Amino acid sequence: MNDWGAESLFVDGSWSGASDGGIRQIRSPHDTTVVRTVAEATAADVDRAIAAARAAFDDGRWCGRAWAERAALLGRVADLLQRDHATLSRLESDDTGKRLVESGYDIDDVISVFRYYGGVAESRPLDSGVVEAGVSSVVVHEPMGVAGLITPWNYPLLQLAWKAAPALLAGCTIVVKPSEFTPSTTIHLMRVLAEAGLPTGVANLVLGAGAVAGAPLAQDSRVDLVSFTGGLATGRSIMAAAAGTVKRVALELGGKNPNIIFADADLDAAIDNAVTFAFLHSGQVCSAGSRLLVERRSHDRVVDEIVRRADAIRLGGPDDPAAETGPLISAAHRDKVEGYLAAAVAEGALLRTGGTRPADPRLAAGHYLRPAVLDGARTDMRCVQDEAFGPTLTVEVFDTEDEAIRLGNDTIYGLSGAVWTADAARGARVAAALRHGTIWVNDAGPYRAAAEWGGYKQSGVGRELGRAGLAEYQELKHIWTRDTAAGSGWFADPARP
Ligand code: NAD
Repeated sequence: MNDWGAESLFVDGSWSGASDGGIRQIRSPHDTTVVRTVAEATAADVDRAIAAARAAFDDGRWCGRAWAERAALLGRVADLLQRDHATLSRLESDDTGKRLVESGYDIDDVISVFRYYGGVAESRPLDSGVVEAGVSSVVVHEPMGVAGLITPWNYPLLQLAWKAAPALLAGCTIVVKPSEFTPSTTIHLMRVLAEAGLPTGVANLVLGAGAVAGAPLAQDSRVDLVSFTGGLATGRSIMAAAAGTVKRVALELGGKNPNIIFADADLDAAIDNAVTFAFLHSGQVCSAGSRLLVERRSHDRVVDEIVRRADAIRLGGPDDPAAETGPLISAAHRDKVEGYLAAAVAEGALLRTGGTRPADPRLAAGHYLRPAVLDGARTDMRCVQDEAFGPTLTVEVFDTEDEAIRLGNDTIYGLSGAVWTADAARGARVAAALRHGTIWVNDAGPYRAAAEWGGYKQSGVGRELGRAGLAEYQELKHIWTRDTAAGSGWFADPARP
């Protein structure tokens, strides 16, 4: 167990504990042992962090540097993260309960994001020209200012990388608030940013529960933008809080993502991917394919196979080489998922397998839950509409392409979806018709740092990754310059005939 309590808030280049000495214990979801203690920020600590970020932005110590210098720093950060890969993987697995190898893949992705933004060239003026003789008009990008970055627990460092790398490249200063369950890799990133040479006060870190450590970032007038990844209800409250100061808001929220399997698909591949898509990281993935839509004549084969495969999934902790997926993040979250399953059965869904706590005594102390398949679901059921964010898969059937599209769009969410078919034209039609931010055809899950990620409808506002993910942290300014000043000549001046 590591006691980081006295040095886990990072404000204006200095490490400290909370102003009232408050600490929080971080417990492993695998066995509930305490893996670390960290500071629990007070309102005064958050205020100090916002003040530091504001001052660092306003005096231009970071945004005043050349673009190439900021980009080069991101490259150095990527190198240092690569050097610390094993440490970071361990910290991520300690906090999330994720298998060590899986945390390693996440850290690979984190490094790729810093490398991607480290290679993004400054955009030329969006528009420029001579309007008339002696007058030029130029539209340029500028950094948004102070950005509050609030992140969830399922991919702690990766979700932060999607925000911090473009924010810093744009020239913003940041105040980071990670999930109270998973702060460790974020703390380590702050050390790395300092080592890479980021000026004092540009990146600041507060820790703790959302109401104290996160909410002020949405409310405070000194913060120009709040970028949040997390649940829908929290996203709504952040958007409402941000309205008070008309702050820019970027939201990456939940998903209820349709995985559509047509009968003509390569069913072996579709089934294998459906299991991964639904149960990877025990379903604690915003883009999880938690909603299977299968063409009626393939239903029995597809669902029987998925049930058989789900039954065989091996659960275990970070260091179990035989494990295929890990625990849920907390006891409260497992209770929530169990409640979701009970409600699904009560409303008529058929629990074909799973939903139980594993019998293995080695897992008894952790927050484990067997992957669950709910057959016979209908779109009007809560289990189809609500995000469980756990190892659950609902199954619905369809008969036609139009019906598959209608069902796939019948959700308040719009984050991602997949379609499986051997008919390329149909794949393209369905991809075009689905109102979700990412669509995979004959695949499920991959993403690229250069390709925008985000939600339609209530899955969010704005985009992360790619050029648009950078633009979230930029303002546009139009500069009109007349070489030589002249009067407007609009109103008559009686003193000048
Ligand atoms: P959450 O909404 O409970 O918490 C997310 C973060 O917000 C945490 O840091 C939390 O402390 C903070 N927070 C809570 N209340 C707050 C408030 N009032 N003001 C400011 N901050 C507050 O979400 P979670 O349970 O940590 O994460 C799971 C959710 O995240 C799921 O719904 C999932 O779909 C979503 N998610 C979305 C994406 C995406 O890319 N769209 C990616 C990952 C996770």
